[in-house]
Amino acid sequence: MPASTQPDVMDKLVSLSKRRGFIFQSSEIYGGTGSVWDYGPLGVELKKNLKDQWWKAMVRMRDDVEGLDAAILMHPRTWEASGHIAGFTDPLVDCKTCKGRFRADKLEDARCLQKPSKRPGEAEQCQLTEPRMFNLMFKTFMGPVEESASTVYLRPETAQGIFVNFLNVQGSTRQKVPFGIAQIGKAFRNEITPGNFIFRTREFEQMEMQFFVEPGQDMVWFEYWKAERMAWHQSLGLSPQRLRYHEHTGPELAHYARAAFDIEFDFGGTLGFQEIEGIHNRGDFDLGRHQEFSGKKLEYFDQPNNKRYLPYVIETSVGADRTTLAALVNAYREETVEGEDEGRTVLRLHPSLAPIKAAVFALTKKEGMPDMAHRIASALRPHFPVDYDETGSIGKRYRRQDEVGTPFCITVDTESVKDGTVTVRDRDTLKQDRISADALMGYLTERLSG
Ligand code: ATP
Repeated sequence: MPASTQPDVMDKLVSLSKRRGFIFQSSEIYGGTGSVWDYGPLGVELKKNLKDQWWKAMVRMRDDVEGLDAAILMHPRTWEASGHIAGFTDPLVDCKTCKGRFRADKLEDARCLQKPSKRPGEAEQCQLTEPRMFNLMFKTFMGPVEESASTVYLRPETAQGIFVNFLNVQGSTRQKVPFGIAQIGKAFRNEITPGNFIFRTREFEQMEMQFFVEPGQDMVWFEYWKAERMAWHQSLGLSPQRLRYHEHTGPELAHYARAAFDIEFDFGGTLGFQEIEGIHNRGDFDLGRHQEFSGKKLEYFDQPNNKRYLPYVIETSVGADRTTLAALVNAYREETVEGEDEGRTVLRLHPSLAPIKAAVFALTKKEGMPDMAHRIASALRPHFPVDYDETGSIGKRYRRQDEVGTPFCITVDTESVKDGTVTVRDRDTLKQDRISADALMGYLTERLSG
């Protein structure tokens, strides 16, 4: 994978995220848990906004997709049927010299721990073991007795909860094929080489949708969802130049898949273009396997044509954390500001994703300015997340909000107290409008609903 032409901003994002409360290392006071992260006050809003945008586009705005929230723990037979027990493995190699542990199929992207200029196996005396298959599922026990009969797994993907509920959802909603089921939830994978901040973690959230179609109509729907999903990423403000499709061909294409494309985002630096979402035509593999393993018929009855069949499935599967990282990388800028010596760091987040939509400042703590600013903040709060700040110079306050991507800053000054107007400063254009405080709601709503 050639290095990207986009700058590597990962280290800067890790530090900004900690400093400003987006993302912290899990259990940091105990030295941290490997590749597990906690979302702080601003991070939880950002990721929630992203999930809300997905839910709105995939469920609320459509009458052919239903929502679901299935449990993480499922009957162990699920994972036999899905093929995860036999096949959800990665080839693992150890280096006897540097003690590194690598994925045998990703050595290209890995670095020797002793000689980071070399790939594993390239340095002299480097001795890699033969690859051994390593199952990525976390295993645990249900009930008080640790015996094999009670083994359960933390789900490594959310999709299986959808397949096993196919007839429950179809029957209860009276949906007709073609229709889809969508859910957002946690997934767990004991990744061999997690890393790159929240790009690859062991606990993460997926947003998955399975669309059930009549066999023969599958490629039409596949093309439809491929285009829809790319448009969704662009609607979040991800730059079209940083997005591309990657088609799975040859051995990369799973044996049951009839077609598969990834949507890749350019994360910059050495990471470059990487998958953020997969769109797969899975045929009737999943429903067929669950029908076989459960002994329950999962066919759909097409009443008008009086025929029964196992629908084919078009799956769209996107990581909430990985896309949050894409949104942060895409938004991060270091800019010079005309007429000012000090530059600024700004997150040019799409307004729908920004954790704080507007900040309200009292220019000084005198002449009733804080009172008026508090009143404005309270009036806006039921509608948007709003921050109130009265400390430090106005320039410093702008910088603090720029750094976390707040689209608008509202300042109450001496004039405000006299005539009821305020200034509204735009994060991206830096332009300031003076408007009546009474018109603020309309002004912000119009600009935030883009
Ligand atoms: P990779 O090849 O990167 O391991 P994958 O092909 O196994 O990914 P899928 O099983 O298709 O990924 O999962 C769908 C989406 O879930 C991915 O596009 C990604 O956004 C997200 N995802 C998968 N594994 C992880 C992980 N370990 N950490 C964070 N997000 C993940």
